[in-house]
Amino acid sequence: MSWSFPIGRLLGSELRVHATFFLLLAWVAFSAYGSGGSQAALANTAFILVLFACVVAHEYGHALMARRFGIRTPDITLLPIGGLARLERMPEKPGQELAVALAGPAVNVVIWAALVVIVGVPTDVRSLADFSAGPAEFLGRVAAVNLFLAVFNLIPAFPMDGGRVLRAVLSIFTGRVRATRIAATAGQIVALLFGFWGASSGNIVLILIAVFVFLAAQAEAADVQNRAIAHGLSARDAVITSFEPLSPDDTLAMAGQALIRTTQHEFPVLAADGRLAGFLTRSALLRGMAEGAATRPVSDMMETDVPVLPLSAPLEQVLDALAQAPAVAVTDRFGALAGYITRENIGELMVLRQPR
Ligand SMILES: [Zn+2]
Repeated sequence: MSWSFPIGRLLGSELRVHATFFLLLAWVAFSAYGSGGSQAALANTAFILVLFACVVAHEYGHALMARRFGIRTPDITLLPIGGLARLERMPEKPGQELAVALAGPAVNVVIWAALVVIVGVPTDVRSLADFSAGPAEFLGRVAAVNLFLAVFNLIPAFPMDGGRVLRAVLSIFTGRVRATRIAATAGQIVALLFGFWGASSGNIVLILIAVFVFLAAQAEAADVQNRAIAHGLSARDAVITSFEPLSPDDTLAMAGQALIRTTQHEFPVLAADGRLAGFLTRSALLRGMAEGAATRPVSDMMETDVPVLPLSAPLEQVLDALAQAPAVAVTDRFGALAGYITRENIGELMVLRQPR
């Protein structure tokens, strides 16, 4: 995800923080300072950081449950709305999707229950808003916010966990595409409500959440539709066979000329024996040129970790591979390069195949 920064690795996933999360921190500190001075600003910022840790735990709930079904989680991104565990793929079996979706909120319920056992249920709700109070009140607030996280995430609307629960349950009765469309529409309605609420109360964070939810719901519906279109098609149906390759010894300047001369944005790099050595993307080429490396060979800047699939591979497998890499190399039955597939030409295929 763009606008996010890596802060470390834990249990096999890279932890990233989205820029808007800092916006939330700044907003909380600033508004607390305005109403209660530096003491309140400090207490509230500490509270948000603990909240942040609970959100991380929530996301690891999803990631570790997904791992039980053999699905890795390359990264987890923290946004003001909560976290986003980017699973390698979504489990398509409703039971597995249900388990993965519920594992996140379940972690918050466990934290809430543990804290309630330690500090008890607050008798006076107003003490939750008192930031000068002692550690018991602080833990009481952490408990309350975990309950809120569990409930908020179970709103039955995409991309909230509740939306996945809804989709998993609906897809038992109707097709997965239709189930997704219903859950995504619910997500967009919720987004509009958040948007109105945010606009009428002047709450910027709510408006940000609304925009995020709206776009994420749309993206999810499109992805599932693409998968439905891809079903029954193979790499053969999407492969680019007419292209200009580069050689590993070509200079970046020569690659730059090829970029101008052709309409390609990705260039397969073929070794002397015709085997695929890697892929040079337009962004890598432009980065190299900006660094003044025009005379350096293409092999210095090319991506060598390119997924390779046969022409007969199901197109759904190609979609999974393209979620991780800019291009997929496609080989014929003799193992020679037949062509390649990019996100852009998959997009074109999807538009052409869209049901009218
Ligand atoms: Zn979740």
